[in-house]
Amino acid sequence: MDGVNLVSRKYKEENTIVNVNGVLIGTDKLVIMAGPCAVESREQLLDSAHIMKELGADIMRGGAFKPRTSPYSFQGLAEAGLKILAEARELTGMPIVTEVMDTKDLDLVSYYSDILQIGSRNMQNFALLREAGKRGKPVLLKRGLAATLEEWLNAAEYIVSEGTDQVILCERGIRTFETYTRNTLDLSAVPAIKALTHLPVIVDPSHATGRWELVNPLAKGALAVGADGLLIEVHPNPDKALCDGQQSLSPANFHKLMQELKPLASAMGKII
Ligand code: PEP
Ligand code: MN
Repeated sequence: MDGVNLVSRKYKEENTIVNVNGVLIGTDKLVIMAGPCAVESREQLLDSAHIMKELGADIMRGGAFKPRTSPYSFQGLAEAGLKILAEARELTGMPIVTEVMDTKDLDLVSYYSDILQIGSRNMQNFALLREAGKRGKPVLLKRGLAATLEEWLNAAEYIVSEGTDQVILCERGIRTFETYTRNTLDLSAVPAIKALTHLPVIVDPSHATGRWELVNPLAKGALAVGADGLLIEVHPNPDKALCDGQQSLSPANFHKLMQELKPLASAMGKII
């Protein structure tokens, strides 16, 4: 594959383990990152954090800078949202993952967050990739909306070439002709890219499908094809969510999913 060197299996055969404050990604443990699409308020986020912790999530998600399709949609709480996420970490002990959209916000997001999330729309923002690689923090790199595996790996190479190997890849669905689902989850990408790279790979069935009722079966599919973790949107009250409520699990449905993943994980030789 052109340009793919440091991230390739040829360069390094054994799996890279990403260490997020002691939570290891890329081992036998299926790592669950869960939480709302966006930080909406202190109450909503802290409520979510307590629920995530109680139901067995390992890492808390929540966007403070949101890449919305319309400039008039809720754009996130920015630094106020990051402070609330940091408070949730204090209260629960869970590390946090949140998106950084712009190089100018990297200092700020690195200060508060445990993982720098680079979203699909920014997968080929090469300046952002390079700068994120310099922070010494784990980076969660989502696959671009229409990126090939080669382009995705080259994006990871930009980060790793800055001196860190702490990069997690996230398959979150790609654009196809199908409009029933928000995107088409490319499950084949998981074993395919794991053969090409030593980096851990997780799956986001929420943005992949855009429909909460499809999140449970596709999360199981992701586990079955060898994902190292899942990124799942959960909201205390999906009907009231300011962002992506239609794809967010309620706490009850997240609980159900966590229970149902357990026997599948043990059949796969994994723990959850
Ligand atoms: C997200 O995870 O909050 C997000 C916006 O996802 P994506 O970049 O995959 O669309
Ligand atoms: Mn979302």
